Amino acid sequence: MTADATKPASFEALAIDTLPARLGHLEALAGRVGPDALAWKVREVGDGNLNLVFIVEGPKGAVVVKQALPYVRLVGESWPLPLKRSFFEYHALTRQQARAPGAVPQVLHFDEAQALIVMEYLSPHVILRKALIDGRELPRVAQDLGLFLARTLFRGSDLAMPARARKADLALFADNVELCDITENLVFTDPYFEAELNRHTPRLSPLVAELRADRDLKVEAQRLKHLFAANAETLLHGDLHTGSVMVTEQETRVIDPEFAFYGPMAFDVGMLIANFWMSFFSQAGHEENGPRDAMRAYLLRVAAGTWATFRAEFRRLWRTERTGMLYAGSLFENRGDPLGAEQALDAVLHSLWQDMLGFAGVEIHRRILGLAHNADFETIGDEALRARCEAPALRFGRHLVVNRHRIQGMEEVNGLALLIEKETRA
Ligand code: ADP
Ligand code: MG
Repeated sequence: MTADATKPASFEALAIDTLPARLGHLEALAGRVGPDALAWKVREVGDGNLNLVFIVEGPKGAVVVKQALPYVRLVGESWPLPLKRSFFEYHALTRQQARAPGAVPQVLHFDEAQALIVMEYLSPHVILRKALIDGRELPRVAQDLGLFLARTLFRGSDLAMPARARKADLALFADNVELCDITENLVFTDPYFEAELNRHTPRLSPLVAELRADRDLKVEAQRLKHLFAANAETLLHGDLHTGSVMVTEQETRVIDPEFAFYGPMAFDVGMLIANFWMSFFSQAGHEENGPRDAMRAYLLRVAAGTWATFRAEFRRLWRTERTGMLYAGSLFENRGDPLGAEQALDAVLHSLWQDMLGFAGVEIHRRILGLAHNADFETIGDEALRARCEAPALRFGRHLVVNRHRIQGMEEVNGLALLIEKETRA
């Protein structure tokens, strides 16, 4: 390591055996882990797709060191990806911490040149997706994630922020263009044609061909992409699926906002709820140790509860924190027209609902047809069974994307999910 403080150190990937020597001088680490870096125990938890994540443990405690690599870890150096995603992850984490205190790991240190973030080690938390595959009903997720969504999305928008600060933030995050490009292509376009990196369970091919020939579906998916690309409404997490949530029975934390970008509020909401619905459709593939009926019912309650909490908190914030330039109180409450503000709120929530459904449908499609699949379905070893779980999920997704303007409420959507999931087990 260079000791020359006048020059920024050039990037060098950390390794288990070099980490103590390279980071031992950092008070943020030593203070938490213990001053004697040689006594640190370092392991790498390589389940991420993109980055290095180390757990550093010592006599005093533990921290996580997350470092970006100049390429996609899952694929290798043939797919370069800029280190600056770490910068955006850092800035997103600090904003989320301010807007939804306690919902994300505490950031202890950031080194831009080394693209590394030192953060609180969440323990004994596990990844929510894994808990759901294991059939665990976590009691707090709908409430905690509904609040996280409403608080981060509302407070990062022109509903709450001073216009100048929001525009500065918009400009800052606009540079996260490579990761945004991944979302634009992998989520909204690739699933709907035979893109090179796509894959799907082979038995689904007839249904996949039908979906890719479905003009209404393609048009609506592109309208959603248009909304994603052109509606820079708020700072999104950008990758809010159940693999970006860590849980215990008592606590829910959101991690990994490296895809953070200004986009439509409904994107984060829809992506997350889609992952609850996919977990629901995948449960039949995880019944080795007994039926999952209770788990299925739980997952529909979580989908509905996340939306209900989001909506209730959004309403509360609308009434108490609407300090931005949109729907200004000078037009409504201050002129003795509180009903006008309520009418506007209902209209905003109505659009959010429809857009959320559309983004959810697209997310379901890309996880079954695109490059990045999810473990809920992937861990179903029996291919025929996996296809029987995935097919109704695809049809459900298609319904959401195409008919989102006609769907009345959660009861209707969950009822439909229940109805078509039965095909899996017929
Ligand atoms: P990537 O961006 O490469 O996907 P993640 O941020 O999702 O990386 O982290 C990869 C894994 O590391 C997570 O699935 C989780 O198991 C673990 N991890 C990440 N951050 C923490 C943390 N703060 N505390 C505990 N474990 C963490
Ligand atoms: Mg990530």
